[in-house]
Amino acid sequence: MTSPLSIVSAEPQTSTLQLHGMLFSEIEQLCRDQQIKPSHAERLNAAIYRHRNLDIAHIEGLPHNFRHWLAQQTQPIAAQAISDQQSQDGTRKFLFRMEDGSDIETVHIPTANRLTQCISTQVGCAMGCGFCLTAQLGLKRQLRAAEMVSQIFLAAQISGQMPRNLVLMGMGEPLHNYDEVSRFVRIVTDPKGMAFSPRRVTLSTSGIVPGIYRMIEERLPCNLAVSLNATDDATRDQIMPINRKYPLATLMRAVTDYIAAYDHKRVLIEYVMLQGVNDSLADAERLIAWINHLGCTINLLPFNAFHDTAYKSPSIETVSQFRQRLVEAGIVTVVRESRGMDISAACGQLQAENSNNRD
Ligand code: SF4
Repeated sequence: MTSPLSIVSAEPQTSTLQLHGMLFSEIEQLCRDQQIKPSHAERLNAAIYRHRNLDIAHIEGLPHNFRHWLAQQTQPIAAQAISDQQSQDGTRKFLFRMEDGSDIETVHIPTANRLTQCISTQVGCAMGCGFCLTAQLGLKRQLRAAEMVSQIFLAAQISGQMPRNLVLMGMGEPLHNYDEVSRFVRIVTDPKGMAFSPRRVTLSTSGIVPGIYRMIEERLPCNLAVSLNATDDATRDQIMPINRKYPLATLMRAVTDYIAAYDHKRVLIEYVMLQGVNDSLADAERLIAWINHLGCTINLLPFNAFHDTAYKSPSIETVSQFRQRLVEAGIVTVVRESRGMDISAACGQLQAENSNNRD
């Protein structure tokens, strides 16, 4: 089902402040600068992030002058919902148009007892992974933290549901937009605001090694997932060009350091299975050798085919044998069912179809 929507539309903007991209410390500073009592910073922060109220006129308890100043200086969500597609399995894909006309997608994935939202971090992506539809767009631009928060607010406004888990696995490579992504992670996990548990926020990378070390240094409050997808450099070079810069040994050393820095925290390894490319039992053995000592969990994702691709999904038997070998080696292994395939919302299928993004 596709329905045109126009639920939130910002007026033409002349101001620069986006309240829903600000950290609490910045809201406090804003109040200090305007000589407003600190208690108003808490009130404003709660209105924005707990009640998702960006309509300054309706935030109660703020001094009149401050409210007036805010209304002039800030802008509400500058994005529009363009479409809302619902899969037979309940997965829901939203297409949002940003202020500059760029289109991005975000996905709600319901399971029995929780809702997970897949957040986009860039318009397109520069990483060029061969099995991913987003890669075909190239990188159009980085998303700001406020635009990532907007994805949560707008999808909740349309669906009436807030997610319990957030995964930075939508369009884009999060660590290629580190500053805005780390701002977003700190905003959503702030206990005074949206208060997502850091255990319920997962950042997935194709393997930008310096970004992993920044996560360690800055104690970024979220989980790490690594999209591995190959067990030797020749194959990974071919399907994930980032591997030529940060080869497997370098990447796995960073994962090892991350795990050590976080006192044996589990890292999720994602492995998209491509028929005849990375799905042999020899691949399973090499995968075991890479991660056996690390205590990682593995998600196996049989490839979601799209038009125009030479890759194929492996057979059920191949996936089953591959998984069995990992389980025998004592590795926690989950075969992820594909969600939302009928609306191209499955992993690697986000492209903002029918959008403004194509040149
Ligand atoms: S799989 Fe992720 S990192 Fe690779 S091209 Fe697609 S969006 Fe970018």
